Amino acid sequence: MPRKPGPGLCVHCVRKVAERNWDHVFPQSWYPDTTPDNLEKWKIPSCKKCNGEYGRLEEELGTLLSACIDPTKAQASGIWEKTLRSLDPSQGKDEKDKRIRAKRKERLLSQILEGDQIPSEGVYPGLGERWGRPRREQHALLVPAKYLERIAEKVVRGLAYIQDGQLLGEDVEIEHLVVAEEEAERIEAVLAEYGSTLHRGPGVEVHRAVTPDDGVSSFSKITIWGQFVMYVSVIKHPSN
Ligand SMILES: [Zn+2]
Repeated sequence: MPRKPGPGLCVHCVRKVAERNWDHVFPQSWYPDTTPDNLEKWKIPSCKKCNGEYGRLEEELGTLLSACIDPTKAQASGIWEKTLRSLDPSQGKDEKDKRIRAKRKERLLSQILEGDQIPSEGVYPGLGERWGRPRREQHALLVPAKYLERIAEKVVRGLAYIQDGQLLGEDVEIEHLVVAEEEAERIEAVLAEYGSTLHRGPGVEVHRAVTPDDGVSSFSKITIWGQFVMYVSVIKHPSN
């Protein structure tokens, strides 16, 4: 892989730009420490603007999600510890870095809901209370739906590019579907029959089925850390 992809189209915004960078489909810091050292991580060409926007989003979303997962699973090994270090001012490499880490910590602590503050609806499937604690001992974080939509979009754009050499243009609609665990069975059956499975180490698993009708429309189940699941549909509108 060349050091930089050179001029061309950005996989995210599909605009032609003079300079592009390699962008990780899954942020590098989201790979657990059980990931093999020699694993080639998925990378796609991105314009600087999209790359920067995703970098900020992934840092914030990564912090929120890592606080909501079960850290004892091998697929998530080291993820929460990495977040803790990023919130620890004493680990800062200079004064500026120490201040950034302190700010991050303050921000996360201010977002924690507890007991009766926790909404009873809108809990992300699979990330609710899993330890049988009474409500007064539970904590929760609000994750903006927009963040999840954007990361879901990034992954399916990345996979279309890496797997099929495709850029998803304006005739394509991408939707992140929140599917309750009990509703997921039918989708699982379709993916098992028509889909293929892709792994990037123990932390990242994708089941993906592309419809042969147009070769673009697809359905993906993305599982991160063995517990955070996103279902994403890609629908190509027929051209007239
Ligand atoms: Zn872009």
